[in-house]
Amino acid sequence: MIVNIALTLGSIVFMEVFAWAFHKYYMHGPGWGWHESHHVHTNGPFEKNDLYAVCFSVIAAGLFIAGSLWWTPLWYIALGFTIYGLLYGFVHDGLVHQRWPFHYSPKAGYLFRLVLAHRLHHHTTTKDGAVSFGFLWAENPDQLKTKLKAK
Ligand SMILES: [Zn+2]
Ligand SMILES: [Zn+2]
Repeated sequence: MIVNIALTLGSIVFMEVFAWAFHKYYMHGPGWGWHESHHVHTNGPFEKNDLYAVCFSVIAAGLFIAGSLWWTPLWYIALGFTIYGLLYGFVHDGLVHQRWPFHYSPKAGYLFRLVLAHRLHHHTTTKDGAVSFGFLWAENPDQLKTKLKAK
């Protein structure tokens, strides 16, 4: 039981580190072809960038299946990835980009800091020169502003 909880929580933390690195080095690198759609204005409710979420969902579904069939720990890792995906969706697609049918954005506190930090990430519409690549953890927005100016 304890091991399973630790695996799930560990997977959530791992995913934030992985998402930060993947966003910084892949999406703003060789994967810019899909990610650009998220930094420029596009028409319609979906962006090419959403394909990343589709890919990660397929991977998580595969891990759930493999975990049920062959090795149970994989199931708890998949659970951590899925919880991360939901938290990411809530913060990134919900709080920051308001892709939900109502209007709510935090005005203070930690969630507000996350929103500000990701808005600063969107100050650039190009592959290079962006700041703040994390989603559930963010640097102090004032420091990010200074970094952005320096670039
Ligand atoms: Zn980006
Ligand atoms: Zn964004």
